[in-house]
Amino acid sequence: MKKKIILPVIVVIWVLALIYMSSCYLGYEELSLRGLLNTDTAIRMGTQMIYKTTGITIMASIIIYWILRKFIQDIIVPMQNMTDEASAFAKGEYVHQVKNYSMPEVQQLASALDDMGERLHRAIRKLQYQKTKAESIVSNLNEAIIILDEEGYITEGNKQVKSLIGGEAIRNQSVLTLMRDPKVVPVIEKAIRGEGYDSCEFLKNEQILHFRIGPISKDDKNYGFIISIRDITQTRQLEAMRYQFVSNVSHELKTPLTSIQGFAETLKGGAIENKEVALRFIDIIDIEAKRLYRLIQDILCLSEIENMENNQGGMVHFTPLIEEVCSMLGQDAREKQVVLNFEEKDVLILEHASTDYIKQVIMNMVSNAIKYTDKGQVSISTYVEEGKKVFCIEDTGIGIPQDSLPHIFERFYRVDKSRSRKSGGTGLGLSIVKHIVELYKGTIEIKSMENEGSTFKVIFPESNK
Ligand code: ADP
Repeated sequence: MKKKIILPVIVVIWVLALIYMSSCYLGYEELSLRGLLNTDTAIRMGTQMIYKTTGITIMASIIIYWILRKFIQDIIVPMQNMTDEASAFAKGEYVHQVKNYSMPEVQQLASALDDMGERLHRAIRKLQYQKTKAESIVSNLNEAIIILDEEGYITEGNKQVKSLIGGEAIRNQSVLTLMRDPKVVPVIEKAIRGEGYDSCEFLKNEQILHFRIGPISKDDKNYGFIISIRDITQTRQLEAMRYQFVSNVSHELKTPLTSIQGFAETLKGGAIENKEVALRFIDIIDIEAKRLYRLIQDILCLSEIENMENNQGGMVHFTPLIEEVCSMLGQDAREKQVVLNFEEKDVLILEHASTDYIKQVIMNMVSNAIKYTDKGQVSISTYVEEGKKVFCIEDTGIGIPQDSLPHIFERFYRVDKSRSRKSGGTGLGLSIVKHIVELYKGTIEIKSMENEGSTFKVIFPESNK
């Protein structure tokens, strides 16, 4: 269009004018040949007609040229611009451009189009942002997410689908080809039939997975379904461990309590009359009450350490703590004819640690060494080896059977239950030690031979920060 239209129109006008002029000229010629018109008159009339027609055609050409130019400038060019703008919108490109057009109606239309373009552009940008946001939320979730249409065909799935289920969420594939577990299939089928939404747990590659399906709906219209699959193996393991711990604790608490209750009732039932028996029973009640107290103390200590987030604290010097523990347990050692000695080969200082916790480690390990040694020796030493800080405790006691070694740090694990109970053990001592040592990034090495003795080495890195 545009200016290209002007020339053909003018050419057509001139062609029509020429046809008109030649037919008129031929008419005059015919009349003159037939003698109806004098030749001179015919030539004059013909020439006049040519002048007039040429003049009119020139005038008409100028007017038509002017009209067409105006029409093109005011309507065709703005329309062309608006068409270009609209096709740019369609491609998602938007360039704000309000032009000035002479016709008010065209100007109004252009402004409306521009305004619409701007709104559209803003709406598209908002939608794109929301889409990107939703996509990054979904891809960063730990859960596998699968989106289905109303008939159960996959429309989308995040990358966790592969890691949890082992298959790809392929678009337009039925979800039942991806999820074939007999526990999951009926839940999906029920949802697709519109009979309700359930959840279930199923096993996949030794993982416990939680499956849930829900609707994607608005104003009672269902647009499809959303499936979420979560790995709950750790949660279930923790639950089992917690359950085990609670039942162990209850059992451990019940034992001294039953004993206290039994002796108290026997005293009430008449034993109190016999002073000697009564004193023995009261002694037992006292021992059991102390055991109960120790047990509760140990449980509280364990839960406190487990909930510690970082290793706050100051510098802890091992030597004074070891000396303090040795003097506290010296009497027990002497009673059992156990020689207790300590050698500070190197000064051992732990940074960012709690004095109470380190004292607890030393206390639990030295008391164990004395507890499980009859007539022998317990040697404690501190030294630095290849930059690592070592607290070593060696005894010549009963030792630990090889098959028990991997378990001795478990809560309430005892090699010999009755010996541990008799010597006042709670079965939590080494568990507490392990938690504290790990809190300060340390490790424990054990060497033990039955009836020969055990060596425990607590090794801390150069820096435990
Ligand atoms: P307990 O209160 O029974 O001593 P611990 O958690 O301190 O509980 O220790 C767990 C078990 O490890 C003990 O019951 C005991 O069988 C074994 N054990 C710990 N230290 C020693 C040791 N020095 N020599 C032999 N056995 C030990």
